[in-house]
Amino acid sequence: MRKLRCAHCGGRFAPDPRVKNQRYCGKIECQRARKSLWQRQKLAKDPDYQANKLDCQKAWRSRNPSYWKNWRARHPKYVERNRMLQKSRRIRHRSEVAKMDALRPLSAIKTGSYYLVPERSQLLAKMDASAQKVRLILMT
Ligand SMILES: [Zn+2]
Repeated sequence: MRKLRCAHCGGRFAPDPRVKNQRYCGKIECQRARKSLWQRQKLAKDPDYQANKLDCQKAWRSRNPSYWKNWRARHPKYVERNRMLQKSRRIRHRSEVAKMDALRPLSAIKTGSYYLVPERSQLLAKMDASAQKVRLILMT
């Protein structure tokens, strides 16, 4: 019988003749990987599936209100790591916002027609259309 290579563990396995296009062997971790990939793809392309999952999670949280509070109390290292990661994300976000603020004068140029005039030094060096630094002079 023809053997196939498992898409998760890479091991060879004899496919079940009843399963069409079988790509995973029967090992528990390979079946988990197959299911988890299916769920991720389903969530990505099926808004109803996604909404249902969110509803289920919300209902579960309201039935188990202190679960995550207790979990965090049992896993202080995770909590500390997450706090640091979140802090670094906040700092990075802030510096990106600051960069965008610094660029704002560029995007504040009024729409209209302009002369592109090379900067003086480049004007003297070469009358070159590919000059990198230019002044914008509004056509009136
Ligand atoms: Zn496998």
